[in-house]
Amino acid sequence: MINPIYETAKLNSLFEVLDSAKSILIFGHKSPDGDSIGSTLSLHHYLAAKGIYSQVIHPDGFPNFLNWMKGTESIILFDKQPEKVKELIANADVIFNLDYNEQSRVGKELGQLLKEASATKVMIDHHQQPDNFAEFTFSDTSSCSTCQLVYELIEAKSDCELIHPEMGSCIYTGILTDTGSFRFSSVTSKTHQIAGDLIQKGVVHSQIHEAIFDVNTPERLTLLGYTLNNKLEVLPEIKTAIISLTKEELLAHNTQKGHTEGFVNMALSILGIEIAVFVKEDDKLVKISFRSKGDIPVNEFSKQHFGGGGHINAAGGASHTSVIETVDKIKKELPSFLSQLNK
Ligand code: 5GP
Ligand code: MN
Repeated sequence: MINPIYETAKLNSLFEVLDSAKSILIFGHKSPDGDSIGSTLSLHHYLAAKGIYSQVIHPDGFPNFLNWMKGTESIILFDKQPEKVKELIANADVIFNLDYNEQSRVGKELGQLLKEASATKVMIDHHQQPDNFAEFTFSDTSSCSTCQLVYELIEAKSDCELIHPEMGSCIYTGILTDTGSFRFSSVTSKTHQIAGDLIQKGVVHSQIHEAIFDVNTPERLTLLGYTLNNKLEVLPEIKTAIISLTKEELLAHNTQKGHTEGFVNMALSILGIEIAVFVKEDDKLVKISFRSKGDIPVNEFSKQHFGGGGHINAAGGASHTSVIETVDKIKKELPSFLSQLNK
């Protein structure tokens, strides 16, 4: 079934704009994940298959386990080439915003540049509460991933035969990583049908799972061992587990980008735990990842206390205090948040 967000008239007018556009940019969010890279690249490949040239731009770099996807080498990074990106934005006719619901998700400076850009904006996204900044908004907050929405865009255009294995692998990757390997409740029978179609079109799913998940380095496993041994705090009374790491601890373990990916899910996998939190000190601030089970809206908690957001069961936020103070604040605020929910 065609996703109703893709009304025929709206899609046709988008493609009229694309057909006459000289410069089309596709942006993903800061600290990209599989869905961000997968959706921007698969849209880029799809447009290319239709003879429409586009340039993918990301705010910053991505973990090594995603760099096998076709097209990663041509992505321009704002933190590496800010002047070039500024020029591209100033001259852009169309700017796609993928896998984020507000322009600030690309970072403060870049977000401001996007806000000021005169280009026609297009949003394709699945996060809650989409901002109203785009001329074309395709938002489906029930969708498991932006990659599924890219597939459904292609489907709505009756272009599924254009999906080649490399394009399909990008789509498959975003679905895989945003659904915790097809396990979250956002996965529907349609998600599996899409995965099945992608496999039929030549996507080798076993290779993708291997490329994404069998990439542990001894350093990452040592950091994981240290973290679980020393930095895991289980609070059974509020069904919460918290993991935290300071900059010193990360440095001491020679931590690379992506090394702490998935740590928060380890905390959530503890029997009886319904909320998992990972607090990590970055260069400038303390980044927080929240995960939950069932109907506990961690995006609301993050919004109320850490200026963040995201999905009901997976959200993020930031704190400008120390790691210890951040953890203390979480421990202080969570019980009243849960009691308001009657938990
Ligand atoms: P993660 O914990 O993997 O960084 O993020 C989980 C989810 O929360 C993602 O869907 C991401 O888009 C969202 N998210 C992470 N950090 C922030 C933030 O600072 N603000 C908002 N609004 N969403 C965030
Ligand atoms: Mn996503």
